Amino acid sequence: MADACLFCRIISGEIPGTIVFRDEQATAFRDINPAAPTHILIVPNKHIDSVSALESKDEQLIGHLFSVAGQLAKSEGIDQGGYRLITNTGADAGQTVFHIHVHLIGGQRMKHPTG
Ligand code: AMP
Ligand code: ZN
Repeated sequence: MADACLFCRIISGEIPGTIVFRDEQATAFRDINPAAPTHILIVPNKHIDSVSALESKDEQLIGHLFSVAGQLAKSEGIDQGGYRLITNTGADAGQTVFHIHVHLIGGQRMKHPTG
């Protein structure tokens, strides 16, 4: 855990979050500023800054985040309509919290492309 990291503090329970999923590897909670009817952040329990900091030993963990995203899309009822998974990496992409996360966004028709 990185002491100053917002998401590490949500995972540990030090800061409240609306947790919708948790297992030994990952936690998911609702985004505080939702961009769509469903907006959930899926994060590894272990602190990793961003995609740029990934190591080959993290491959299973990152796959697990996508697996959890798919399960949550089903439980949110958006798997049939479709949804978007986003991982912003670095300043140019608008990453604001440097604990790697996958945004699960859905429940409405979205514009494409971004950028
Ligand atoms: P990013 O800009 O990709 O790093 O995404 C960070 C996300 O974290 C944004 O969508 C924020 O709305 C969200 N966020 C910031 N603080 C909190 C919080 N305390 N609880 C839940 N989500 C948060
Ligand atoms: Zn962290």
